[in-house]
Amino acid sequence: MKLNGFRKKSPWILHYNTGSCNGCDVEILACLGPKYDLERFGILNRGNPKQSDILLVTGPVTKRTRDRLIRLYMEMPEPKVVVAIGACACSGGVFRGMYNVGNGVNNFIPVDVYVPGCAARPESIIDGVVKALEILEKKKKDMELPHRCKELKRESSRRKLLAECTRRYHEGR
Ligand code: SF4
Repeated sequence: MKLNGFRKKSPWILHYNTGSCNGCDVEILACLGPKYDLERFGILNRGNPKQSDILLVTGPVTKRTRDRLIRLYMEMPEPKVVVAIGACACSGGVFRGMYNVGNGVNNFIPVDVYVPGCAARPESIIDGVVKALEILEKKKKDMELPHRCKELKRESSRRKLLAECTRRYHEGR
């Protein structure tokens, strides 16, 4: 569980372009650059899905990229959060209805945060990432809940057993 604490303080991002015009990608890069400097919050952009917590997706999901998008999502460990950045990732945007696109990321993988705009502004992207961190934290707690319940149950049955033994000891049995 110690690892989860680190994940909260230093979440890793995976950025995938599913066919965007590059406008939203440039804004994501601006967020990571010295002006907005997302890294000051401990947020790092890494290319490995197996070590990432937040998936940032831009673009209207072309037929060529949809399988890779699903595979990247599947390879990320739980809990994970998906942020759709820009009108294209949210709903298809200007490419909506074209023969070669899937009209939005949520048609293929579950999306947790939508950041609209064409292109999405760096401030909105940062807001979206902050929202994603809150959702990540909630998902982590939800995942830990069954373990905590089990531990509490075990603890309460241990206490009951101890009380029973003490009672029997005093009764001389
Ligand atoms: S939302 Fe606009 S800027 Fe972003 S990928 Fe689509 S067309 Fe390009």
